Amino acid sequence: MRVCVYTLGCRLNQCESEALADSFAREGFEIVGEEEGADLHIVNTCTVTSKAEQKARRMIRRFARRSPTLVTGCYAQLNRKELEELGKEVLVVPLDGKARLLKLAGHLRTALESSLSLFEGMKSFEGGDATVFDYDAATFSYHSRAYLKIQDGCDNSCAFCRVHVARGKAQSLDRATVIERVKALEDAGFNEIILTGVNLTMYDHRNEGLGGLLEALLAKIGDIRIRLSSMEPDHIDDRLLGALEDPRMQPHFHIPVQSGSDSVLHRVGRKYTVAELTSILDRLKACKDDPFLAADVITGLPGEGEREFEETALFLQENGFSALHVFPFSPRPDTPLFKAKDRVPESVRDERAKVLRTLSAGLTDAYLRRQEGKPGEVVVQDRKDGSWYGVTGNYVDVRIVDPPLFAKRGMLLKGTFGSRSDRLMEFIVTGSS
Ligand code: SF4
Repeated sequence: MRVCVYTLGCRLNQCESEALADSFAREGFEIVGEEEGADLHIVNTCTVTSKAEQKARRMIRRFARRSPTLVTGCYAQLNRKELEELGKEVLVVPLDGKARLLKLAGHLRTALESSLSLFEGMKSFEGGDATVFDYDAATFSYHSRAYLKIQDGCDNSCAFCRVHVARGKAQSLDRATVIERVKALEDAGFNEIILTGVNLTMYDHRNEGLGGLLEALLAKIGDIRIRLSSMEPDHIDDRLLGALEDPRMQPHFHIPVQSGSDSVLHRVGRKYTVAELTSILDRLKACKDDPFLAADVITGLPGEGEREFEETALFLQENGFSALHVFPFSPRPDTPLFKAKDRVPESVRDERAKVLRTLSAGLTDAYLRRQEGKPGEVVVQDRKDGSWYGVTGNYVDVRIVDPPLFAKRGMLLKGTFGSRSDRLMEFIVTGSS
C-alpha cells in the first residue's frame, strides 16, 4: 500500500510530516510522491497565509478524487468543517489529534487485514494519548540532517498571526529528553541536527531558556553540528548569545524581523523596537565570522505607509542580512488585523515585496561572493545528474567538486568554497571527518 504525505508551511510541519511518513514506512507502507498514485494521501496544512490555505484546498480536492485523504495541521485545526466538505472520503484530524496519527499506520494495517476499507479503517482510528513532542527524530530516514522538535505554541499574540491561535500556548520538551534525543541522533550517525519549534526562543522561557538548554546540551554531545531553525528576536538574551559562540552552533541565523519601522512593529504587537533589534543583530554577527543572517519580512502590514516602508528597506539593507524571506501581508480570520481600516492596497503591497526580493537577491549575491576561497564544511544531501550536492555550516547550497568515491548522504566533508556556477556555489573537497 502506497502513502503520500504532502506538507505545506514551516519547518516544524515538515518535521512532523517526516515523523508521520516514517511511522508508515516502519509498518511496511511504501512512501511515494504526490504524482505516484498513492492509495492514501495525508495533507499537513498551514494557516500562515490565505495562499497556503488555497493551495491546501486545491491539493485536498485533487487527492480526494484519487484516494481517501487525511487532513491535519494548523488550517485543519481552525476550519475543520470547510475541509471535510472537500471530498467524500476526506477525514480531518485537528492539530490536537495530530501526534496520535503516529499510531495510525499500525491501526490501518490491522484494519486492512480484517477486511475494512481504508476509509473505514481511518474513521475507526482513536489512537489513545499522545503529546506534541511524540515526534522522535531518531527514527527519521528521509534526511541527511535530522530535525528535532523541542518547542510548540507561542505566548505572544502578534496581530497578524493565526499560528499562535492554532498551536496554543508555548510548551517545551523537557531538557533531559532533548539531550537524550540529540544523543540518539548522534549515535545514529547524523552529523547535523536542526532544533525546531513554533517560537524556539520561547523554549522554557520562564526558567533557563534556550541558552540554558544549549549550554547543557553542548556539554553532553560530541562534535556534531547544531542549527536553530529560527529565532524570534524578543527572547534572545546574553545566555543564548554566549551558547551560540560554541563552534558546534552553526553560523546561520534566521530572524523573523517582520518590519524595520517602529510604528509598524508597535502597531502589530511585536515586542521590540528597531534599536533593540539592531543591537541584537550586532551581537549575533559578533558571535561568528560572517554568519548567514536571514530575515522574514512582511510587506503591506496595516499602517505601513511609504515612509515606514522606506525605513524597513533601509534597515534591511544596513544590517548585514544575507537573504530576505518576503511575505506580502495576508489578512487572516480570527486575528486583530483581519478587519484593519488602514489596509495597504494589494498592488502597493506586492510592489514592495518585489523591491525587497530584488534587494534580497543582491544581498545573497554579495554574501556568496564573500565566501569564495574560504574554508568550510558541507553535509552531503543529494545526488543528481552525476553530482553530489550539500549544505554548508553557513547554510549555503553547494555543488560538491571532487567528492570522494565513498561519498554518501549525511557525510561531513571539509573543503573550500569555489566560485558560483549558475545559482549554486561550488565546494572543493579537501577531506572528510
Ligand atoms: S511570535 Fe508572533 S508571529 Fe511568531 S508564532 Fe508567536 S504570535 Fe505568531
